[in-house]
Amino acid sequence: MSYHSTRGQAPALAFDDVLLAGLARDGGLYLPEAWPRFSEADLAGLAGLSYQQVAVRVMQPFLDGSIAEDDFAALVAETYAGFDHAAVAPLTQLGRNDWLLELFHGPTLAFKDYALQLLGRLFDHVLTKKGRRVTIVGATSGDTGSAAIEACRDRAAVDIVILHPKGRTSEVQRRQMTTVTSANVRNIAIEGTFDDCQDMVKAMFNDQPFRDQLNLSAVNSINWARIMAQIVYYFAAGTALGAPHRPISFAVPTGNFGNVYAAFAARRMGLPIRQLVVGSNSNDILTRFFESGVMSKNKVVPTLSPSMDIQVSSNFERYLFDLFGEDAARVVDFMERFRRDGRFEVGETMLANINSLFQGYRLDDEATSGVIRKLYEETGELLDPHTAIGVAAGRARRRDASTPMVALATAHAAKFPDAVEAATGIRPALPSRLGDLFERPERYDVLPNDLETVKDYVRQVARVNA
Ligand SMILES: *Cc1c(COP(=O)(O)O)cnc(C)c1O
Repeated sequence: MSYHSTRGQAPALAFDDVLLAGLARDGGLYLPEAWPRFSEADLAGLAGLSYQQVAVRVMQPFLDGSIAEDDFAALVAETYAGFDHAAVAPLTQLGRNDWLLELFHGPTLAFKDYALQLLGRLFDHVLTKKGRRVTIVGATSGDTGSAAIEACRDRAAVDIVILHPKGRTSEVQRRQMTTVTSANVRNIAIEGTFDDCQDMVKAMFNDQPFRDQLNLSAVNSINWARIMAQIVYYFAAGTALGAPHRPISFAVPTGNFGNVYAAFAARRMGLPIRQLVVGSNSNDILTRFFESGVMSKNKVVPTLSPSMDIQVSSNFERYLFDLFGEDAARVVDFMERFRRDGRFEVGETMLANINSLFQGYRLDDEATSGVIRKLYEETGELLDPHTAIGVAAGRARRRDASTPMVALATAHAAKFPDAVEAATGIRPALPSRLGDLFERPERYDVLPNDLETVKDYVRQVARVNA
């Protein structure tokens, strides 16, 4: 199987090269040229398998010989062995046909671990085979950095440097990054804002000689392998709740559209999904699009659900590609218009087509808080603010009560203790394996907001040429 770009101007690549490339050279995103199909019998055959077994069945067709089947099965087994629940992604029942899919059992307590833990191992495997190394550089406002660091720690072919704004992340967020003291992990606290950090990372990627010298790479949410790994839990949950014999709906708290795009991909592969409900906070560009057909950028406002404080959902381009019948020229035209005018629009017929599967729903902070409190009173479950938005969106937009609605719990409540305590009066405790987080030694370096200083630092710590 080979992969093509949504913008049609980059070379088709095999899986291992798509993994390492991330973004396509024409600025587009990679997608498989042909989607694997799971028949009803194939789906029925997933019932009763372990999460790891489902993962191998679902992802194997995408690798197409880039990684040997036994090697891949071993990587998958190792990836999820460290998760703290035997089911890896367990379902919890909230009410009749009302479910929660718990995706917070990985090392950093958020769903990104499900893909990134595999991605780190895939990088290492493919790079070692090719005799190459990479330097991963990224910026974080607090939430995504730890998932990337946990994914890359102790990987032989990878060094990772993560920039965070000094004093501007929560203590839990900082400690989740800085207490990882593996030799290949470096944390830099920049004397500046998150935007300063992000600008420096962009500048490093735009400096072609620097980029080549250090084999710079990223593990951001546009990487195809992350989508691939996320498809798995939709198959696992769907077949556990009765697919292929009955359809399932999902409600997904959404930022970059990566997670819910994986659900769309699962549907393309044959999983009977009836509805996909996209939950937004006040940064509601997607919900406005699903209501009006107009995609238009607003200013980002900070909310209780910071991982969804996004105005441009980069993975939406993958969905557009499908919507336009894989017409890359049309995708280019829309993305160009969006870049130029901050806006594009689809017609009525296309919107109706979109709405036959997708609905959006928004909650502001006050409503989110109310849902956290209500769910606690109703079920005893403590939900983090992102998850609460998913649950409320699913309940508000569900079309039929007889189809199971599965809301994705994308973070553990203890990751956002202030919001949860404010809503319920109860401060959620960190799981025991993280209980000593505040006693662990930290390691990080403080650097000024100066590009050349940061570049020198990265040159010194990267072992690309070692
Ligand atoms: C990243 C994140 C999201 C948004 O997921 P996307 O794939 O970007 O749509 C939602 N909730 C949490 C907790 C996250 O960390």
